[in-house]
Amino acid sequence: MTMDHLPIFVELLDRPCLVVGGGAVAERKVRELIDAGAVVTVVSPTVTAGLERLGDDGRIQLRAEAFTEAHLEDHWLVVAATADRELNTRVAGAATSKQRFCNVVDDAELCSFIMPAVVRRSPVTVAVSSGGRSPVVARWVKGLIETLLPERLGDVASLAGRWRQRVAEAITDVDQRRRFWERLLEGPVPERCYAGQERQAELVMEQALADWHQGDANSVGEAYLVGAGPGSADLITLRGRQLLSQAEVVLYDRLIGADVLDFARRDARKISVGKQPGQPSITQEQINRLLVQLVRSGKRVCRLKGGDPMIFGRGGEELEALAAAGLPFQVVPGVSAFAGCAAYAGIPLTLRGVARSVVLTTGHTEDSGQYDLAPLRSDQTLALYMGVAQYGEIATQLIDNGSDPETPVAVVEHGTMQTQRVISTVLGKLAEAAATLEIKAPALLLVGETTRFAERYAWFAPESLVVYKGSGHEPLVRVS
Ligand code: SAH
Repeated sequence: MTMDHLPIFVELLDRPCLVVGGGAVAERKVRELIDAGAVVTVVSPTVTAGLERLGDDGRIQLRAEAFTEAHLEDHWLVVAATADRELNTRVAGAATSKQRFCNVVDDAELCSFIMPAVVRRSPVTVAVSSGGRSPVVARWVKGLIETLLPERLGDVASLAGRWRQRVAEAITDVDQRRRFWERLLEGPVPERCYAGQERQAELVMEQALADWHQGDANSVGEAYLVGAGPGSADLITLRGRQLLSQAEVVLYDRLIGADVLDFARRDARKISVGKQPGQPSITQEQINRLLVQLVRSGKRVCRLKGGDPMIFGRGGEELEALAAAGLPFQVVPGVSAFAGCAAYAGIPLTLRGVARSVVLTTGHTEDSGQYDLAPLRSDQTLALYMGVAQYGEIATQLIDNGSDPETPVAVVEHGTMQTQRVISTVLGKLAEAAATLEIKAPALLLVGETTRFAERYAWFAPESLVVYKGSGHEPLVRVS
């Protein structure tokens, strides 16, 4: 189970609902229920003046008596809003045994349904809940959304609703139709609505639909090579997220987290094309072919890659396949592992007087199985991708090439993720540290004087920084 509650919107029009309690809180709930068209009965020996008036106006039924189980009969929902916890508990218990959903105001434990904070742009409604844990957080989120959504957003939805049938008849292909709507919503129609020019909006709509059939340029697909960032879902760029949420098909790598994929459309086809090191799986050639095929058939395909697509991501090969086929594409950069890991480990990659260049390389050469690491200058920071299993050979080669075995190194395992671990040691002890601490991919090796700062600037998951001094010493796990 991953959700405390299933958010649903219920239609309450003309449905009887029961509110137990007659104070100010009860009155607020009664008004919300009335707004949704419910037929409300209030059970309470005493009620506020406001409720009294609603009763007099015939908008609610008042029953000036003590609550009994019999009151629950024929009611779809129950709200307990008395100041008496014992009574609220009784109402909730009775409701549960009669299988009525019950909300107890400000008492999440007793609730079988909760009432969210609501942003109203009718017919668009946004409901925010903190699962009953913190109404303050929910209201804060609501406030944020209030500022994001145009006041007249509802008009756009209403207009779209009026045109839905006509558009469906005019554009029968589902993907095409979706594209039409998406373009429309990014275009001038909403602007006219926000400006209160409803007739203008209708005209623009009419024109857009007529124009749609003119150019068949619309039926060409497009590939988006998008860098998803190194792991943490919030490190994807805004542009990447935009294109991801437009694509009909998502081809994603093994390291892409589920929470990034959540930004994709729910109905998008999501295809894993992850290559597992050392295991038979889809080849790069097959990925290229699939990509070309999908785009050619008119799909918008998001090729979602870990980190940056152009850094050890084989982005170049996929672009070549698309270019050779004459298909359109866009490339969106991502936070590559070197940048993500350095930032989240507190390691400045360049630093005045310490390091003036950064070398991105890999220890893993698929073609030859050989390493060919250039000698590292003392004013460089090396960021080495992949090759966790070969850290021993890599260190040996760097030392053979003239690096001091005492050169500080940092390995960032699962960089930027909740499970991040930073291992700080020296080049000569790297192999030993990797074995002893069982370092696993994905991990990035950083070598050079700048990596010393990992200990001083550890800010993310600082308690999982490990300082490894070699056998005979206990690894020092820093507890901040
Ligand atoms: N295009 C990616 C790199 C893909 S190659 C990028 O720009 O980052 C895969 C290698 O990237 C891994 O073996 C590891 O060395 C590195 N890597 C990717 N994500 C990482 C992470 N969260 N933490 C540490 N290293 C990572």
